[in-house]
Amino acid sequence: MAFNPLNWLLGLFSLDIGIDLGTANTLVNVRGKGIVINEPSWVAIDKRSRQLLATGLEAREMVGRTSGAIVVVRPLHDGVISEFEITEAMLEYFIGKVHEQTVVPLPRPRVVIGIPCGVTEVEKRAVYDASMSSGARETFLIEEPVAAALGAGLPIGEVRGSMIVDIGGGTTEVAVMAMGGVIVSRSLRVGGDEMDEEIVQFVRNKYNLLIGERIAEQVKWNIGSAFPLPVEKTVEVRGRNLVTGLPESIEISSVEVREALSSSTQVIVNTIKDALDEVPPEIVADLMDSGICLAGGGSLLLGLAERLSDELNLRVWVAEDPLTCVVRGAGMVLEDFPGLSRYLVGLERGSTRHS
Ligand code: ADP
Ligand code: MG
Repeated sequence: MAFNPLNWLLGLFSLDIGIDLGTANTLVNVRGKGIVINEPSWVAIDKRSRQLLATGLEAREMVGRTSGAIVVVRPLHDGVISEFEITEAMLEYFIGKVHEQTVVPLPRPRVVIGIPCGVTEVEKRAVYDASMSSGARETFLIEEPVAAALGAGLPIGEVRGSMIVDIGGGTTEVAVMAMGGVIVSRSLRVGGDEMDEEIVQFVRNKYNLLIGERIAEQVKWNIGSAFPLPVEKTVEVRGRNLVTGLPESIEISSVEVREALSSSTQVIVNTIKDALDEVPPEIVADLMDSGICLAGGGSLLLGLAERLSDELNLRVWVAEDPLTCVVRGAGMVLEDFPGLSRYLVGLERGSTRHS
C-alpha cells in the first residue's frame, strides 16, 4: 500500500485494538504494540450489590474458594455471551487497562473483535453491543476461524484451499477456506471445558473421588492425550472421597485420562470428518498438500495432531502459539485495514439484542 501521510498521522492518535473474547481467555492486541492483555475470562462478583470484585487472573484464583456472598463466573458459554452485563463489565475493565497503559490520553478505540462461526444475529449483536458500550468508538466483527487462520499465517486469500480447526474452552470451530471465503464450516459446542468435566466424572465414577475442575484441567494439561504417548505418565490428584467424606489423594495414569477424554476427542474427530465430507473434491486435493492447521488452547492436548492425522489421512499441524492466533489475526486486519477488511462480517440492520 502507498504511504499516506494523513493516515499515518491519524494512526498515531488513534488506538486500534483487536480482541479475542474467548470462553476461556480474553486477549487484547494493540496496533503497533502487540498483545497487551492475555487473561482468563473470569469475573468475581458480589452477589448482593452485583459489584465487580475482580477480573481475569485475579478472579480465576478465587474459583472454588469463595464464600456464599461472592460468585466467580465466566460470562461466556459455548462461545457466546450468556451474561451480557458481566461481559460488558469485563471488556470495560480490559479496555480501561489498555488506556491506562498509554502515555497520552487517546480517543476511544476502534475495535476488531472475534465471533464464533454460525452464531445467531442476536448473539452477534450482543458482542457488538458489549464492545460499543465498554468504550469502543467503532466495532468490527470477524469470524474466529477466519481470524485464527490469518493469525496462523494460512494463505486464505489464495485460490488454494486451507483448513483450520480452532479448539477453545467452550467450542471447536472448523472452517475450510478458499479465495478469502469460508466454503464449509462447523461449530461444535465441545472443547477443553468438556474435557475437564469428563476427567471429573471419570475420577468420580472410578475412584469415588470428587475433584475440582481446576484440578481436572491441570491433569489434562500435564498428562491428557488423544493418542498413545511414547512414555505413559502418572500424576497425583487430590479430592474428597465421596464414601468416607475425607480428603484423599490417588494416582492416575495418562492411559486412564485418555480413556476419560475419549468421547470428547472422538466427537471432535467426527465433526472434522463431517466437514471434510462436504468439501468439494478440488479443495480436498489442495488439503492433501496444505493439511489441517490446529489453533486454540485445546490443540495443545498431547497427541491430538497425531490422532487426527491418523484418522483423517491428512497432515495435521499445530499453529505457532495457538492460543494467540485469533487475536493476532484481528490485529492483522487493523494493520492492513484496506487489504483485509473484506474478512469482516456485518450485522443485519434492525437486529436487536433483546429478543
Ligand atoms: P477460548 O477461545 O474458548 O477462550 P482458548 O483457545 O483460550 O479458548 O483455549 C482454552 C482451552 O485450552 C482450555 O480448555 C484449556 O484447558 C485448554 N488448554 C490450554 N493449554 C492446554 C494444554 N497444554 N493441553 C490441553 N489443553 C490445553
Ligand atoms: Mg477462541
